[in-house]
Amino acid sequence: MAMPISGLASCWNYKSFDLMGTNGSIIESGLKIIQDLTTNAYEIQQQVFNEILTQNVHTEYLDKFLHGNPDKNLFKEKVPIVNYEDIKPYIERIANGEPSDHIILAEPVIELTHSSGTSSGKNKLMPLTAKDLDRRIIARNILPWSVINKYVDGLEHGKGMYLFFARPDMMTPSGLKVRPILTSYLGTRLFKKQISDLYTSPYSTILCLDINQSMYCQFLCGLLRRDEVLRIGAVFSFVLGRAIRFLKEYWRELCDNIRTGQLSDWITDLGCRDALSAILNKPNPELAESIESVCSCEAWEGIIKRIWPKTKYVDVIITGSMAQYIPTLEFYCDGIPFVSSYYACSEGFFGINLEPLSKPSDISYTLLPNMAFYEFIPINQNKEEEIEPVELGDVKIGQCYEIVVTTFTGLYRYRVGDILKVTGFHNNAPQFRFVERKGVLLSIDIEKTSEDTLLKAVTKATLHIEPLGIVLMDYSSYADASSIPGHYVLFWELKMREGMDDLPAEFHNSKIVEECCNIVEDSLDYVYRVMRKDKRIGPLEIRVVKQGTFDVLMGFFVSKGTSISQYKTPRCIKSEDALKMMDSMVVGRYFSQN
Ligand code: AMP
Repeated sequence: MAMPISGLASCWNYKSFDLMGTNGSIIESGLKIIQDLTTNAYEIQQQVFNEILTQNVHTEYLDKFLHGNPDKNLFKEKVPIVNYEDIKPYIERIANGEPSDHIILAEPVIELTHSSGTSSGKNKLMPLTAKDLDRRIIARNILPWSVINKYVDGLEHGKGMYLFFARPDMMTPSGLKVRPILTSYLGTRLFKKQISDLYTSPYSTILCLDINQSMYCQFLCGLLRRDEVLRIGAVFSFVLGRAIRFLKEYWRELCDNIRTGQLSDWITDLGCRDALSAILNKPNPELAESIESVCSCEAWEGIIKRIWPKTKYVDVIITGSMAQYIPTLEFYCDGIPFVSSYYACSEGFFGINLEPLSKPSDISYTLLPNMAFYEFIPINQNKEEEIEPVELGDVKIGQCYEIVVTTFTGLYRYRVGDILKVTGFHNNAPQFRFVERKGVLLSIDIEKTSEDTLLKAVTKATLHIEPLGIVLMDYSSYADASSIPGHYVLFWELKMREGMDDLPAEFHNSKIVEECCNIVEDSLDYVYRVMRKDKRIGPLEIRVVKQGTFDVLMGFFVSKGTSISQYKTPRCIKSEDALKMMDSMVVGRYFSQN
């Protein structure tokens, strides 16, 4: 017999939370919600389905298939499973100013969410409604906070030094705001209200649109409030790694500012200057000296722990393609646990991690059944044709699925593009491991190499260079069809682990990278290896690029509108301009000798 659902399914409203109450009451409410949602997962799914369909069955999109009938069987029979390209014309009509209420969703669209475009290679626009933003805020801010407080004590006695970055709003021709979802979160009343209690960065430093000024000021505040910092965070691990490299470049200047109580002149953003004037208001030579003595050590191993010794965890997503940065972050964090709190995207907020202190390889997310109606297409490695999707209650442990969502924001049977593997259940809600982006990353002939296969092959090859003290900072790839036969190209940014900034000259003449090319090839799928043997694919090539190349690549995408907070290094580069830029940074080319 199902427990009562407490009206939670879709009518969340964060204003109904006792936000003026104690931290304890918020945590308790959050845990109760999780218990209700996961216990009644299946019933809530049916409720969510009914609600979405009843609200939207008369929209132009659904009416075409259902003629006003919100029946679930009919929905599954008639409404096609779609990609972004299929619904793009509808979203473009909203962007161009047609009233949104009859096109794909009945609720008013308050803005359009702009995806990072780094995982799919395409920037997507998604409608957002006021109610859905509320739902996502609770899921993002309150539920993970409730969970982590169950595992880590005393978090209310300090703050988080989180690096958040807002993007400038853009406007559609009809005057609708277009921005990344994180910028929408940062603009909410809840975030503005929470920020001074929970985070070290003042609001205006996050809003500063110049990334260097913003990062500098956020670090400065984190250093000035060093004793209060209990958590460090960014959205994805890449950004945190990038931020630590920034700190390495600027710590002397930051310490000078702390010593003199004067903010550097190049910080010209008025919001930043204003916010800092309240915190950096007197010379503090003692603090400056103490930070200097830590940062001036040649070895930056464990630097995060040494600068902010009270840090209890690092809040950053390290699953999927972000796993690449774990060794670098482990080096800087030296034993501080990483917490990957959630699985979310521009399309919606879908999962939270209920065991936040689990090892990176064991991280699973629990699906939130009230955020969308989910279907799962089983992945069958051996067959080309697609199998019928199943519902949340019918997924099997150990099976991989492509996730398909029907949301409150006008997406119906929409492929998110991610592959998830079910690892278990929490009460009745499935838990899953993020496997990879769906689709073929690289292909020259009939072989198909996925993101996960390439990651595993690259990880294997890095075991060959690790004993030499060489770290793979980042990588990407493309299938070069201009050579005959075509071949795979990997871009690798390498770095010596300690002290030395540049790879020794003899490294470029040695066979080490060639051997890595061989290992990567040997670790790719059987079909790839057969094609290689038949010379239908040319030798795999690794192009070693200058240090800092992947930061420049990020800059390239940010200049095109990607939010730095949501940025993920593309594992396959599709933009011609980005490829040209990467090629201009190559310092060595190596080919497999297989
Ligand atoms: P975007 O819509 O640009 O923010 O990108 C969302 C994509 O980021 C998702 O579809 C996933 O591919 C990826 N992503 C989000 N959360 C996670 C996570 N916890 N682990 C791995 N990848 C994630």
